[in-house]
Amino acid sequence: GGSNSSSPTYDNVLVGVRCRPLFPESDKTHELAWQLNPLQQSIQLANNNSNSRRYPTSHVNLQTEYHYDRVYYESSNEQVYQDMVLPLIQQTMDGYNATVFTYGQTASGKTHTMMGTDLEPGIIPQAVNEVFNCIKQSKNNEFLLRVSYLEIYNETIRDLLAPENDNLKIYEDPHRGTYVGQATEKVVTNPHEVMDTILCGETNRHISTTDYNLHSSRSHTLFQMVIESRQSGNTPLYKSHSPRAKASVKISQLNLIDLAGSEKAASNQDRRKEGAYINKSLLTLGTVIAKLTEPGKSAGHVPYRDSKLTRLLQSSLSGSARVVVICTISPTIFTVDESINTLKFASRVK
Ligand code: ADP
Ligand code: MG
Repeated sequence: GGSNSSSPTYDNVLVGVRCRPLFPESDKTHELAWQLNPLQQSIQLANNNSNSRRYPTSHVNLQTEYHYDRVYYESSNEQVYQDMVLPLIQQTMDGYNATVFTYGQTASGKTHTMMGTDLEPGIIPQAVNEVFNCIKQSKNNEFLLRVSYLEIYNETIRDLLAPENDNLKIYEDPHRGTYVGQATEKVVTNPHEVMDTILCGETNRHISTTDYNLHSSRSHTLFQMVIESRQSGNTPLYKSHSPRAKASVKISQLNLIDLAGSEKAASNQDRRKEGAYINKSLLTLGTVIAKLTEPGKSAGHVPYRDSKLTRLLQSSLSGSARVVVICTISPTIFTVDESINTLKFASRVK
């Protein structure tokens, strides 16, 4: 940041890599494939027999050290949140659009990081709490919060809060930016209400899909919070329809997104089609974010329209928007190739 230009700067994108713990039982190995150097914020393949056997002289360079803004191993959801997301929430409250993604292959820890568990809440519940804390502490402003919960599956947008609405369109508004028309926007007044709303969306999704795990690994899940604020003492926000009242309202979006699994598609036809959609949208996302971080940035053409995801996030991926990308990898030797793909994505958007 720091410049008064409205074009994005390098600092607006923060990239972290998080390696989940090894689970010897389900991972069927005791051996870590990666060596993490949190002090250097870097990661490289471990110098062990399996790796040397697997990559004797190959394309994979055992010495390659990948560097990021943050590298996490054996870290808690709280630590990741405090470190990478908390500063963003304050900025969102100040009127900036912000987006957090978790990117990585299935079972690498995207949902654990984004949603977490009751024992170890992830980014969403912690961010929601912080938003309400900020509101409580704010003396001069009043706020109106609306949340929606959507999924993108095979390039169609579905409202998880009203799942019969399964083909939503994207619109553009000069004040608000890009948004999904007809999406349920629930006005919320406390963290419980938000988490109940999400739970309701998840329940709807369970009911309407035959294989929930497969479906959720093939779709992007978007939690959106629209934050409207203005100085207190005027017409209440919910009555402020006059253009004049509208002009004094600050509006920003917080997007918390659990992306579809980044792994290469399996070989049957349906899967391949899904895979093509997923790869396209993840590739486009990478291109769009990479453009944001390009130094000098007469960024040229930014292909927002190449995928639903980037199109609907356009106003949160441009201008002064803040972006956090958390790339998750599994630690096993069986997933090294996919982990390398994830690390390359992380390097590309950095
Ligand atoms: P994904 O959403 O990428 O498919 P999940 O978040 O569902 O992956 O993680 C797969 C499994 O690993 C889950 O059982 C999850 O609880 C566990 N897990 C992932 N990351 C961590 C972590 N950092 N600490 C503890 N358990 C984790
Ligand atoms: Mg998941």
